[in-house]
Amino acid sequence: MSKSAAISFEYFPAKTDAGREKLLNVTTPELQAISPEFYSVTYGAGGSTRDNTRGIVEGLNAQGLSVAPHLSFGLDDEATIAALLEDYKAAGINRLVALRGDLPSGAGGGARLVYANELVEFIRQRTGDHFHIEVAAYPEIHPQAESYEADIQYLKGKFDAGADSGITQYFYNVEAYFYFLDRCAAIGIDKPIYAGIMPITNYANLARFSKNCGAEIPRWISKRLEGFADDQESIRSFGIDVVTQLCQTLLESGAPGIHFYTMNQSQPTLQICRNLGL
Ligand code: FAD
Repeated sequence: MSKSAAISFEYFPAKTDAGREKLLNVTTPELQAISPEFYSVTYGAGGSTRDNTRGIVEGLNAQGLSVAPHLSFGLDDEATIAALLEDYKAAGINRLVALRGDLPSGAGGGARLVYANELVEFIRQRTGDHFHIEVAAYPEIHPQAESYEADIQYLKGKFDAGADSGITQYFYNVEAYFYFLDRCAAIGIDKPIYAGIMPITNYANLARFSKNCGAEIPRWISKRLEGFADDQESIRSFGIDVVTQLCQTLLESGAPGIHFYTMNQSQPTLQICRNLGL
């Protein structure tokens, strides 16, 4: 197993004071046992979570942890995004996850989102090399992509614009990830692409997310999960075993690192990391 694999953790911005308090003062100290490279905090299109994202980012930063705010233009203008970049820079934050994002529901039909490669270019123009920029990658291909080849060419466009590394959408098909890495290398992408991994804790939520984002839940996994019905303990235990096995294969086969979509819960991610001996 690669001992040098980078581990990172993703949060979404808790909406309430109590949620934020728990994330910063309970969940994070627990996850710190794994000494991740960084924590990332998601961002809602159109700035819908801007203040919540910032609150969590600042809280993690104040604890001396490396933090990567997610960022997208949404429907914001350049001045708004430039000001946010300056604020992050002034606070000593030096990583970002740059995204196109999705249109907020209710946005007018004429609205156009700024592609992630354009955001990367904007960040580089405004802040030079200050930020380490991560971008999203899709081993099972983005749901709106014109084709497999077009999607990885657009990923290359994000690296050509100055991104430093990629983080994948979550997946459970390990072959899809390694095939994707090979295809990316074949078109000249030479930056690391970390595997995004979603622990399994709730079948209904996972099925809903997966449908929207184009991540496939293999039939044998969905059949097992359906069979457990409301038996949360069996879902939890099966989910930990399956995801541990997936991560073990990834690390043994040379994945450069794993980014856990923690869903703001420490226990499933911690248990998987412990099983892996991390
Ligand atoms: P892009 O890379 O811009 O691609 C979007 C689509 O357009 C793709 O189909 C691509 O093939 C195509 N495309 C790309 N560039 C061009 C171009 N120049 N011209 C024409 N077509 C192009 N969502 C959130 O709302 N908040 C988050 O914080 C968030 N974090 C995420 C983190 C990770 C690691 C991942 C994998 C996803 C995340 N998402 C998040 C979801 C993401 O916003 C959606 O998947 C969104 O639909 C695409 O964003 P992107 O940056 O991948 O877009």
